[in-house]
Amino acid sequence: MVRTTPPRPVDIGRHFPELAPLARTAVRLHPRAGRPTAAVSSVGGPLLWPADEPWPVCPDHAGPSHVGTTPENARRVRRLLSRRARSGEDVSALLRRIPHQEEISQDGPLPLLPVAQLYAADVPGLPCPDGADLLQVLWCSFTDHDEPWVPRTVLRWRTAAEVRDPLDDAPQPSVVSHRNYLPEPCVLHPEPVTEYPHVIGLPRELRQRIEAWEGRHGSSYHDHLSVAPGCKAGGHVRWSLTDAVPLACAECGSNLRPLLTIADWEWDDEDPSWRPVEESTTPLHDDISPAWATKLWINRGYSLQLYVCEASWDHPRVQRMQ
Ligand SMILES: [Zn+2]
Ligand SMILES: [Zn+2]
Repeated sequence: MVRTTPPRPVDIGRHFPELAPLARTAVRLHPRAGRPTAAVSSVGGPLLWPADEPWPVCPDHAGPSHVGTTPENARRVRRLLSRRARSGEDVSALLRRIPHQEEISQDGPLPLLPVAQLYAADVPGLPCPDGADLLQVLWCSFTDHDEPWVPRTVLRWRTAAEVRDPLDDAPQPSVVSHRNYLPEPCVLHPEPVTEYPHVIGLPRELRQRIEAWEGRHGSSYHDHLSVAPGCKAGGHVRWSLTDAVPLACAECGSNLRPLLTIADWEWDDEDPSWRPVEESTTPLHDDISPAWATKLWINRGYSLQLYVCEASWDHPRVQRMQ
């Protein structure tokens, strides 16, 4: 089934012509619980990986043990929380039996977790180096790397047709830092939408005129007319943690292009503006809402944004929490 964002209440590019050239296409990914295979785009699903290519590991988390939870226990907790949300059953005694954080042994460097796999055919405009048609994102679930607070990601682009002997069973980490960083397997429903710059990134004078217009029209540029919430490819940056900062490549100074945003919530019941029309009657409870199918919760509600240099694929990519 497709997912369709309701039309924006107004076409803001017509009210403010200076915004029109700043419009960008974002592809909302709409991850929803499912059983993706390596042949399809996914969040938290298996990756199309050559059997003879080493699986990425985290050199910073090499064992012999780490404090966290096992992937199995993380999923048991989720199943109980869903059960409680659906039936109202008191599952607190069952939850207490599952270790929350414990010392778990790990034999060798921690294998990275598959986070996202995007086939270019599913995601219009997905930036890919020449010949590549598949982007894969993995991460180490621990958040104590050189860039604190967020998992460290590894990106791979590849040509799907070149993977003739795919890996059947990817290595699994024995431990994840917290269940918030273990993506639940989701299939995607990519949908292109038009975005305008986040309000924080606009010139002050334009911002003031938009605020005056909002007062007259009862529409919120920030909430409804600019940047889509949730997981998406491309589009504009949703600034939330910091002011807007220049997005320039450290190597050459060229613009950084937003590649992928990995976020938690896609919409909520308080503001259903971005809720797909197909989901207008779905459950709103946190633990069973389709708006939170990935179960990712990055540092208590931020998003992880990945950028690439517009000028060169060889230049370092950038990841930020916002
Ligand atoms: Zn690590
Ligand atoms: Zn560059």
